[in-house]
Amino acid sequence: MSVHRIFNYCFVFLLPAQHFSTERAESRKQLDMKILSKKNEITGLQNTKLTCAVNAVVQVLAQTPGFSETIYEFGGKCKQEAVLANVLINSITDVNNASGIINAEGLQEEMITRRNSFHFWRQHDCLSFLLFLLEALEEELGNDSMKLFTGQMRNRFKYDNCEHTEHSSLQNFKSLCIPMNNSENSVEKYLKMLFRAENLIDSGMYCRSCGKGTASRKLLKHDICSKELLIEESPQILVLQLAKFEEVKDIYGHTKLDKRHVPMLYSDTLQLQEGESPSRVKYELFAIISHLGTIEGGHYVSYVQTIQSQRECARFDRHDRRSSTWYHCTDSVVTRLEPEAGYPTCPNAYILFYHKQPRK
Ligand SMILES: [Zn+2]
Repeated sequence: MSVHRIFNYCFVFLLPAQHFSTERAESRKQLDMKILSKKNEITGLQNTKLTCAVNAVVQVLAQTPGFSETIYEFGGKCKQEAVLANVLINSITDVNNASGIINAEGLQEEMITRRNSFHFWRQHDCLSFLLFLLEALEEELGNDSMKLFTGQMRNRFKYDNCEHTEHSSLQNFKSLCIPMNNSENSVEKYLKMLFRAENLIDSGMYCRSCGKGTASRKLLKHDICSKELLIEESPQILVLQLAKFEEVKDIYGHTKLDKRHVPMLYSDTLQLQEGESPSRVKYELFAIISHLGTIEGGHYVSYVQTIQSQRECARFDRHDRRSSTWYHCTDSVVTRLEPEAGYPTCPNAYILFYHKQPRK
């Protein structure tokens, strides 16, 4: 039995006694049926103190495959000390089970105590909030706890005349940034560009391999070397940020942030090359966070495919219309989208979330 299902039952058993006294007309069995029948539906989150960025992140984490299980696994080891993890898992459980409107104020309160850059009544960048939250969970639950979101990458250098290959040290990443320009506004094209080898002319780089074993350790300086970015370990959950916000200079020459209103094309499937392997890792889209409005005042909404729907997609053909159920979440209002429409293609998409498919 999955943890997700265990929680559906836990919710039933943990209801306070007075709740049952008001439901006298219904037997316990009927009540269980009523709650369990709602298990595929999700609930909205109230926006009480400009918390739309937090709400959007909670909706996505509630449908992130493996996330709740991870919190239980690592949170269980920490027990009561895992305050942030407990608050978050309560919000996620409420989203997936509650029938009324809920809010994520408790989560934001916990984040405010951990990061002084967070406040109520202030618009926050959704990706910054997500990354700070993952970092704070790592502090609480241990370094390996957020491995689900962590990938590793490094650069590979090939030198022109000695033909040696060298690698830079591995770097962890929890999101990749897709820059936007006017010619390559497609995630697929950009990812190809990101991993394409580029020649560095007049690189002035030294090949350390050439100096090895010689007494003088004389290093050979190269004019040309090629540099290539490699994903050495692909994350289970791939987070792509579409760089909507950029620094521009105003008429007085001051730098300020501005928002690009250029749509980016993306697909519901994506492939990444991992290391030197010729086979590619496959990903499928399960959530999107969109930013509406301008940099001065905007609103975050999320589009999510429920975990149940993701499982159905895996069981049937993903493009089977019955299995492709998406929800649009704007704070307390959650709307089920027509399965015939397929995955949402949002001109305002800001963060895309893909999950890795098992290798066949
Ligand atoms: Zn060399």
